[in-house]
Amino acid sequence: MSSLDTFVQVATARALDYGRCSPEQALVYACEDIVDNELGSRNFSSAHIEQWLQHICTREDIDTPHLVVARASQSTLASSDSESHTICIRGKMTTAATVLHEVAHVIVGADSHGVLFRDELVRLARAHISIDYAALLHGVYQGVGLEMSPWPASASQR
Ligand SMILES: [Zn+2]
Repeated sequence: MSSLDTFVQVATARALDYGRCSPEQALVYACEDIVDNELGSRNFSSAHIEQWLQHICTREDIDTPHLVVARASQSTLASSDSESHTICIRGKMTTAATVLHEVAHVIVGADSHGVLFRDELVRLARAHISIDYAALLHGVYQGVGLEMSPWPASASQR
């Protein structure tokens, strides 16, 4: 069994932890958890998130969303509201992966986690975390049965 198969199995099992979400959303969260556990991404203290967010948005050529840092919550790491162009990060520390998840929502302009969102998140991870990170995320998403555009498409630059 390849290591990708193992990650896919673990992600599929992990999705059961998100029983209150739709099956698709539970799988999306579970895949992100597995990849972040395995490869990790940079940690930012809340004082440094804004600078990194600005850097990302300049590179992506989008307006930088308003950033709100709220106190930690057990149920939510972060959230975004595309209408008010706001990202809310919770707690003193957050990861690059969490920030990019919210940026992907802002770029796609939707709260849902469908194929457009997933393609966008993989593209952002490839550009701003690493190719390895993005490739594993793409592989696990696809492996659990979620629709994805072909991997080469994630190389596109804005
Ligand atoms: Zn989300």
